[in-house]
Amino acid sequence: MTSPYDLVVVGGGPAGSTAATAVALRGHRVLLLERETFPRYRIGESLLPATVHGLCRLLGVADEVARAGFTLKRGGTLRWGRDPEPWRFSFAATPRLPDPTATAFQVERSRFDEILLRNAERVGVEVHEGSPVRRVLAEGGRVRGVEYTAPDGSARTAYGRFVIDASGSTSRLHGEVGGARVYSDFFRNLAVFGYFAGGRRLPAPDSGNIFCAAFDAGWLWYIPLRDDLTSVGAVIAPEHYAAVQADPRAAWRDMIRACPDVDRLLTGVPVATEPPYDRVRVRKDYSYGKRSLWRPGMALAGDAACFVDPVLSSGVHLATYGALLAARAVNSALDGSLPEERGFAEFEARYRREYGVFHDFLVAFYDMERNEESYFWSAKKITRVDGDEAAAFAELAAGVASRDASVLGAAAAGLGAAVDRLATGDGRGNPLLSAPVVRDAFRAGNELQEQALYGGPLDGPDPARAGEPAVAEDGLSWVLP
Ligand code: FAD
Repeated sequence: MTSPYDLVVVGGGPAGSTAATAVALRGHRVLLLERETFPRYRIGESLLPATVHGLCRLLGVADEVARAGFTLKRGGTLRWGRDPEPWRFSFAATPRLPDPTATAFQVERSRFDEILLRNAERVGVEVHEGSPVRRVLAEGGRVRGVEYTAPDGSARTAYGRFVIDASGSTSRLHGEVGGARVYSDFFRNLAVFGYFAGGRRLPAPDSGNIFCAAFDAGWLWYIPLRDDLTSVGAVIAPEHYAAVQADPRAAWRDMIRACPDVDRLLTGVPVATEPPYDRVRVRKDYSYGKRSLWRPGMALAGDAACFVDPVLSSGVHLATYGALLAARAVNSALDGSLPEERGFAEFEARYRREYGVFHDFLVAFYDMERNEESYFWSAKKITRVDGDEAAAFAELAAGVASRDASVLGAAAAGLGAAVDRLATGDGRGNPLLSAPVVRDAFRAGNELQEQALYGGPLDGPDPARAGEPAVAEDGLSWVLP
């Protein structure tokens, strides 16, 4: 069986475009098969600086993204925890990085994803839209390619030395790797979301921030996409599913009315009527992982592999970072710098570590609300989760409880974000965001930015990672020390 392609990528979202571009940039032959025709709608509109200034720069698309006119995001504003006053975190305190990189964007995903996909084409990826992949072709335990339907309806096959499944949460192929998905008990939430044709903005410089506000039934996001477009979504307990399914629009409006912090920003503002923003959509069962992320010849990246709750806007970062890790493994195997098993093992270890810090942080973050009267929030109490999550909280609580200035100061130095209270401005940072687990959550993002800007980490390698392969200067493969 011949392999005309070095890599076949399934899915043209951020994960698929990243993996395909990162391998094509090394001169390899890459085919990307996308089910839909772009532009197409997606949720996941609030980005992190690591994506905008790290990943996009590595892929050669940062300037185009910067010129696209997306809303500048300097951080987040939250009404969370027992404190009735909102507080903000700002990317601007990111250590060692020049100020322009301490920002991200709120994006219409149809436009952002298309920029990434067209860039993939420009660097040589063969992109076929309207081409859903039906199944994976394997021989002798190794994945060799895929079978797909061409736009004319005919069945086709494509062979490649490697296949990356980046076909998102609705992937039909992920079961080929690591068996069934493992769903989170803790993050078994439901999201119902839609759009308003406008909406008030927070005062400058926070007008582009994502605003997240907790209320009895869960929490709401409020994302300023354009002057005349705001994304508003509710994350609530799955027990509401029947009511939401019966009338999603009415349920969505009820949730907004139940959260005065958000409701007052929308008084008198009409809902959006322009497609695709005229619909109210529902998503559930979106937090999961896999027992394994690769097998010989194939890896999973992005939502095909894993996702965890949207409150910190980590989805596109995890998707693109995971895809870059998978691409590094493929590039390393193709150029012989690292055997396939070693490269994929490295991919999986780093991907799990990044997913893990966001997961653990989010568990602790949810526990801050502690509203005993609310079903949603009492179900999120940390005592209800498993040992690993409790251990993560203990680490967090230790940092918080000690209030030791040197501990908090040292943690904050590696944090990559500044936090303060909006109302009093008393300079007291929210201790949760100064904890070691948070520093870890931002570490890979900082490293990505440093790689893109300076061709490698500014610090020496982390001692805990001694013995790991080093990242090549262009960020696209690994080399053994
Ligand atoms: P996708 O963007 O879903 O792309 C997958 C692509 O594969 C699609 O284009 C699809 O058409 C294609 N495809 C599917 N099946 C096939 C097939 N068989 N053959 C060929 N192509 C196929 N993330 C953030 O960063 N910020 C946020 O604010 C945020 N908010 C969120 C809110 C909610 C409620 C949810 C559920 C998620 C949110 N996310 C957020 C997460 C974000 O949506 C995803 O993590 C991100 O879109 C994953 O990118 P991806 O490339 O893996 O998948």
